Amino acid sequence: MSTHHDQSAVTVLGLGPMGRALAGAFLDAGLRTTVWNRTPGRDGELTARGAHGARSAREAVAASWLTVICVVDDDAAQSVLRPDAVAGALKGRTVVNLSADTPARSREVADWAAGQGIRYLDGAIMTPTPTIGTPAAVFLHAGPEELYREHLPVLEALGGTHTHLGEEIGRAAAYDIALLDIFWTAMAGYAHALALAEAEGVTALELAPFAQGIGAILPPLFEQTAQDVADGGYSGEGNPITSAVSSMAHVVHTSEAHGIDAGVMRAAEGLVRRAIGRGHGADGFSRIAEVLGRR
Ligand code: NDP
Repeated sequence: MSTHHDQSAVTVLGLGPMGRALAGAFLDAGLRTTVWNRTPGRDGELTARGAHGARSAREAVAASWLTVICVVDDDAAQSVLRPDAVAGALKGRTVVNLSADTPARSREVADWAAGQGIRYLDGAIMTPTPTIGTPAAVFLHAGPEELYREHLPVLEALGGTHTHLGEEIGRAAAYDIALLDIFWTAMAGYAHALALAEAEGVTALELAPFAQGIGAILPPLFEQTAQDVADGGYSGEGNPITSAVSSMAHVVHTSEAHGIDAGVMRAAEGLVRRAIGRGHGADGFSRIAEVLGRR
């Protein structure tokens, strides 16, 4: 079935920082790489290294059995793929969509692709551009397992680890959205901590090594919290949320005394108070996930 599908060629649509990194890794792996971007002029470095710069998205997708698209979101991906000339040229070919978006949006695009006879996988990239082509890259994939297996040899040119999360097309975006939830709330906490520390006369660079120490205690806590949620334990032994809430209040008070917005911590404190109000004061922080998940 797949024997006529040339595995030595790939097309990349979208030449933002990530699309350029992906195309560069395909070139490094010796694949015949065709590239295209909505705004012309972003392919100079890639064509100098041997990529074929297509003049249209239609020409680009017709050059390879596999097209990887990586644009800002699924609306952008749809506006690239939807024109009849492009969708028609993709019929019977494979698109791997590495643009980030919501699980619901991923399912909609997949439904559209199915209607067009386009073979379709959705993916998410969990690491920044410098990791692409190195062992540190992390790619998540969802969609038909057989299709994934067929194209994995080409995808592996991107380096790192590739994980197929299941046939349900929204699963890569579901992992992505949950992991971004961790990332952005953590970064909001860190940005706030830097502002708070500066207000107390502690510079960002003075705080940074200790901030890394806080980062280092999180991996085992993530594991233990997941275990608590999985088995419904929520044990607060040694660290009940009644104690957590008082330390959170100190952060709020110190911030507001300096006129610094404490909205992020107030939101977190509010979640803990809600759990305490429902009689879970002796439990650990993992109880918050259970309270939030109640519908
Ligand atoms: P952007 O998210 O800024 O995406 C830029 C690309 O999207 C350009 O090719 C741009 O084309 C294209 N684009 C935007 N709107 C449209 C549109 N309406 N129609 C057609 N093309 C459009 O930069 P990145 O390359 O960094 O990111 C691409 C994807 O990769 C995003 O979904 C991002 O979340 C994800 N990602 C990025 C990471 C990173 O470190 N950069 C890390 C992990 C994931 P044009 O040049 O014409 O504007």
